[in-house]
Order: sequence, then structure tokens, then C-alpha cells
Amino acid sequence: MCGIIGYVGKNEAAPIILDGLKRLEYRGYDSAGIALYKDGRFHVVKQKGRLEALRAAVGDTPLAGRIGIGHTRWATHGEPSDVNSHPHLGAKSRIAIVHNGIIENYRALRAFLESKGVVFSSETDSETVAQLAEYYYRGDLMDTVVKVVNAIEGYYALGFMCLDEPDRLIAVKKDNPLIVGVSKDGNFIASDVPAILSHTNQVCYLADREIVVLDADGVAFYNMDRERLEKSPETITWSLGSAEKGGYEHFMYKEIMEQPRVLRDTIRSALPDGSNAAVLDSLDVASFDKILITACGSAYNAGSVGKYVFESLCRIPVDVDLASEFRYRDALIDARTLVILISQSGETTDSIAAMREAKSKGAKVLAIVNVVGSTISREADYTVYTLAGPEIAVATTKAFSAQLALLYLIAVRFARALGKLTAPEAEALVGEISELPTHVEALFAQIDRVQYYATTCFNSKSIFFIGRNIDYAIAMEGSLKLKEISYIHSEAYAGGELKHGTISLIEDNTLVVAISCCKRLAPKIESNIVQVVSRGARVLLITNDGANPGAGLETGTGAESAAEEAAGARQFTLTEPTVNELFSPSLSVVLLQLFSYYVAANKGCDIDKPRNLAKSVTVE
Ligand code: GLU
Repeated sequence: MCGIIGYVGKNEAAPIILDGLKRLEYRGYDSAGIALYKDGRFHVVKQKGRLEALRAAVGDTPLAGRIGIGHTRWATHGEPSDVNSHPHLGAKSRIAIVHNGIIENYRALRAFLESKGVVFSSETDSETVAQLAEYYYRGDLMDTVVKVVNAIEGYYALGFMCLDEPDRLIAVKKDNPLIVGVSKDGNFIASDVPAILSHTNQVCYLADREIVVLDADGVAFYNMDRERLEKSPETITWSLGSAEKGGYEHFMYKEIMEQPRVLRDTIRSALPDGSNAAVLDSLDVASFDKILITACGSAYNAGSVGKYVFESLCRIPVDVDLASEFRYRDALIDARTLVILISQSGETTDSIAAMREAKSKGAKVLAIVNVVGSTISREADYTVYTLAGPEIAVATTKAFSAQLALLYLIAVRFARALGKLTAPEAEALVGEISELPTHVEALFAQIDRVQYYATTCFNSKSIFFIGRNIDYAIAMEGSLKLKEISYIHSEAYAGGELKHGTISLIEDNTLVVAISCCKRLAPKIESNIVQVVSRGARVLLITNDGANPGAGLETGTGAESAAEEAAGARQFTLTEPTVNELFSPSLSVVLLQLFSYYVAANKGCDIDKPRNLAKSVTVE
């Protein structure tokens, strides 16, 4: 995953690179490092741990120079350590590189270089690139980069500096993201826009195997035959403010609170004249007899909700597949299959591979992506955007909600196009979806209750989430959110499945979060609740008045329910407004996000940057 940045220009590079790394830290935070060129040599500082550790180390070492590269690492090959941190230098310290990705043939390359006497200093795959570059270098860095690219296999965004060509940076990418920023004061490479947005909003996107050469005066693009390519910068229209905390303690909380706005923007985008409308209009829905939704992590959970919605409204078969599995399972898809690919970053390696696999089988790919210009957005046959803005917390919230909203609206459109809904029926559903942002706002009145209840369960060793049908799909997201940020083991189960094994794990005081927002299934989940309570479980019930008449919408502090729970009720209830059951996941998920957030906060976890995770998963 990793974040890389490079700068060459009129200003001191160190503050620019360190500031950029701060904004890339969501991509990995095992270690960070920086290399600057000045006075005939590289000045390198690398430090295991968060960026603050690097800042502290840099503080003791005067670091000057107007050209440099930096890296924040999510380790794949070699433990997180100072020596395995990037930038990596060749053995003669003449070439420095930063790398995001994996060099899959690094063992063979390393063995070859070692047979030539090259001595490696780290365990990483990435160092191979630095050593190989030095081995090939014959006075022309661009020529060297071409040779390196021809020799390495895998995926990468790479930045190079060379002592013999001290005024230029060279970068290249394959499968992993890399953008190029241009300004009159200097030029940049970076893994993502926020890293450079305080310096420029003029950005060029690099395609696979394109090379960019940057110096203080400009940037030039080349293909692998070293032919010049023309590219004009695009203007980034969002501001850095949307990637800052704005007074909130955590990005995750800020992003939860942004959901009403994000939902409104995203819903509007799919209505007639909205920014996504033309793409959706261009889809020939009747030409598909099957839909396959594929994604990773939370996006997969959004897809699982989507399956219920599409099948219910469109009466078309829908499969949901993990992208990492789909890509290797030789799925039965063809030109009559619409593959819906969901990805916040648009750079998820497994999802990119799934997209290419789907296209190679003749299927059409409709991508739901948050990041404009990302690889998936450029390669998919059709791309619609969630309008969530930059999402910084590693655990997704607002992008997930936006994905759900788009899935609902696409399903309604398809159902209408397929003649499964009349115009008034479709209009009524769109009306219900358009009400969701207001309902989410109403849910915020329950924050105190969620916060209270979280204080009673942050010591849990294991928490189970149950639901049935679409409530089960959203239970999976609740479970994932909790384990991501609180490190509490959790599992999501279809309520009816408990008795086939999992119920043996229920013991005294095990917390079971039960979601019951579908009226027709409420008696079923109620039986499941009785089953676990009679085995000692306590229950957090997320429901609505429709499924549980009389549930009401409590907005107190929760303390009153504490007394109830202490008196043996063993159940605490969070109630959401009653909406069409197909859309209730959009409300349940907000309560689930808040619950996870407060459990993690009570445990003192690093909520925005949970251990071992990174946001944009650009490795396989
Ligand atoms: N494979 C490299 C390493 O472990 C880079 C990892 C990444 O991009 O996440 O250092």
C-alpha cells in the first residue's frame, strides 16, 4: 500500500515531503523515510513507526535540499524496521528509490545481483529495484528506468533519484497509483492528491508503464520506447479542507457526521441531470441476464446489501464475489453479465485484477468508485462516482454509505428499464431513498445512548452480530467495522445459522448485536435472540418501530436503560426510523459505525489508523 512522494523545485524539499507524507499516512504507517540530494550526496533518514518518529529523527539531523523523495510504508516483504524502510539506495549509494507495491520476481533478481557481488542491506523486495538500477546505470537514468521496468514483475509505483543527474526525478508505475503535480515553484509525484494539494491543484495521471521526468522547471512524459507523450494537467476541484479534521477528534467521527451531506450529494448525482445520470442512461440494461457484484472489504459488504436490492427490485440473478476470489475462480460470466465493481479508492489491486478478468471474459464492468481519475475509474466500461469526498480514516464510513445509496438508485433504474416497476413505483422508491439523509440526521440524536452502551462492552473478548436477509448483509459490515478499529474479535452470522454451530460460543455475558429491521423476519430474529439470551448472552438490538412495534425512538442518555439492563432485561435497544426494508441498512450502518467508534475510543485504540491496516490496498 505505502505512500510515496517526490519533489523537485525552488523550495526546500524536506518540509514539503514530510507534510505530504502526513497526508499519505493512511496508506501505511509501519515506517517512514526521506532522501534528499544536496552537495553531491544523498541525505537519508528512515525510521520505524509513525511519521512522528521520522519527524523527531529529522529534527536532529539538518536536512537540506531542493529535490527529494519520501515514503510511508505498509510492509509486505521484510518486517517493519529502520533498515527495511524506504527510500532504498543501491550499494554504491548512487541511486535512491521509493516503491509502492510488490516486486514479485525479487528473489531471482536478488540472486542474480548477489552473484555479481552486490551486497543487499534490507530484506525488502523494493531494494532489488535500487540495486538493479545501479547495476544497469550507464549515465542515463531514463534508460535505466526502462531496463528496470523490463526486468521486474509485479506491481509498482516507483520514484528514482540519481547522484549523477541530481536535478531530476524519474517515476513510473504499473497497477499502483501515481499522480504528477505541476506548479511554478516545483513539481511533484505522489500516490494521492491530498499529499500535494496544498502546493498545487494541477495534476496529471500516469498510465501504466508511462515514465515521467521532473525537474524544477517542468515535467515530461514518455512511453517505454522513450517517445514523448502529451498530457495536460487536470484541475482538482476539491479543497484540502475536506481532507482535514475540522475540529473533530478523529477523521472517522467527522466522516460519520458527514454522511447526510454525502448521501444527499450522491443521491442527487444519480437523479436526472445529476453527474452520474448520463453514464447510467447509457447502460443497455436489457442486454444483461445476470449481475455479478465484486469488491473487497466493506465494499463487498455494500455489494452484499446490493444483491438483496437488485434481486428484489429487478428480479435478475445476482452473485456477490470477493474480488480476491473472483479473479482466480474462472467465473461463469460472459457478454450478457454486468459486473458491478465497487471500490472507494479505485486502486484496490484485487479489484483491478477482477475488473480485468471480467473484461477479458467479455463482461461489461460498471464501476462505483470514489476517487476520480483512479485506475478502475479509467479502465471500467462505465464509471459512476460516489460523492463522498476524500475519506481519510482507514475504516470506511461515508464512502460505504454512498456506495449503498448508488446501488439502491441503480437498482431502481434497472428495475424501471426492465419493466419491473411502473413509473410511479420507481418514483416512490426514489422518494424514499431521498429521505435517507434526513433519517440519518435523526439517528444522531441517539449518539449519547450509543456512547453510553459502548462503555459497557469495550472489554468484550468476542462480539457476535446477527441478522437475517438484508439485515445479515449489514451485520457483516458492523462486525468488520468493530474488529477493524477495536481489535475485538467479532463474527457476523445469519441468525438462522447460529444453531448450526456458532451458538456453542455463546457464554455468560457474550454480547450479541442483533439487527432486526425487516418486519416479516422480526419474529425469526426474535427467536434467535431468545436462543442466545437463554444461554447467557446480552443483546444490543438495532431495530425500528415497523419491525418491533412500540420500539419508539429513544433519544435519552442511555443511563435509564442501564437500570433496565441491570434489572435483568439483558437487552439494550437502539431504534431507527422505519423505512423500506431494502434501504434500512443505510440507517443501521450509522448506528453500527457509532457503536464501533465508541467501543474503540473506550479502549483507547488508534481509531483512524488501526494496526496492520491501510486504506488503499494496493498489494495482493
Ligand atoms: N513491498 C514493499 C515493502 O515491503 C512496499 C510495500 C507496499 O507498497 O505496501 O517495503
